[in-house]
Amino acid sequence: MRRVDLVLLGPLLAIGAWVAVQAHELHAGSAVRQSAAALAEPLPVSARAMPAAFVRTIDRTVMRGRIAAGDAPATAPEVKVSREPPPVRDLDEIHRRLSQNEAGTYIGDILLARDSNVARWPDRTARPLRVWVQASPILADWNPAYPDQVRDAFSTWEAAGAPVPFTFVVDSGAADVHVTWVDHFDEQISGKTMWARDDNWWIVDANIAIALHHNHGEPLDASAVRAIALHEIGHLLGLDHCADTTNIMAARVRVRDLSAADKATMRLIYALPPGSVKQGR
Ligand SMILES: [Zn+2]
Repeated sequence: MRRVDLVLLGPLLAIGAWVAVQAHELHAGSAVRQSAAALAEPLPVSARAMPAAFVRTIDRTVMRGRIAAGDAPATAPEVKVSREPPPVRDLDEIHRRLSQNEAGTYIGDILLARDSNVARWPDRTARPLRVWVQASPILADWNPAYPDQVRDAFSTWEAAGAPVPFTFVVDSGAADVHVTWVDHFDEQISGKTMWARDDNWWIVDANIAIALHHNHGEPLDASAVRAIALHEIGHLLGLDHCADTTNIMAARVRVRDLSAADKATMRLIYALPPGSVKQGR
C-alpha cells in the first residue's frame, strides 16, 4: 500500500466507526463504600487518537443524580467500515419480540438513550471474543487478584446467556478486547469503556480501562473493581444505563452483581438485530 493510502486510511476508518466513550465513577465516601455503592458518573471524554468531530459520547451526563446533558447518537454521519454483513431486519418481528419480552427489562431506557437503536455484537458463538487483561501494571495499591475479578465479571456475563463468549489470551496483540488499569482518572470516574460500531449498529470494537483509585485518591477494593468491570462489560455488550439502581447498569451503581433485569435486557438485545426499532427506518 502506498504511503498516501496509509495516510488516508486512518481518517476514513475514523469517519466510519463511531467511537463511544463511557466512563464511570465509584464514589468512595466511607459510609457509602461500606454499603457497596458504586457511583457511575459518565462524563464526555475525548477519545484519544480519534478526530474529535467523529467522537460521540453515548452516555447521558449525570450530575448530582440528574440527567444534565445528552448527545444524540443516531445522527452521526457514518460510513460502513465493518465487514459484517447487514442484519436481517423485520420490523414486525422486532416489535413482536420487544412486546413479548420487554417485561422485566430496561430496554426502554436503552432505546431512549440511543434514539431507538440497538447496538450489539454479531453472534460470536463460533469465535469467542479474545480478551486480554493487563496482568501486572506498575501501579500503587495493585492487587494481583484484580485480573481474576475482571475475568470473573466476563464469565458472569457469559453465563447469563450472551451469544458472545469470551476467551482470555496472554498476548495483547492477539486480543479483540483489552482491559487495562490506570492509577486514577483525572475526571470523576473510575472506569471507562470505548467502543465502536459500524453503520448497521454492529459493535466492532471495545476496550475497557479501570482505575485503582478514586479520583480523590482513595483505593478501590476488589469487590468494587469487579462491580465496575461488570458495569463496563455491560456497555461492551451493548447495554446502556437504566434508572433502576437495583441493576448493575444503573448510572449510579449501587449493587455488586447482575440483576435478573440486567440479564433479561442483555438477552433481549441479542434476540434483536442491531439498528433502529423505529417504524419506517
Ligand atoms: Zn455506564
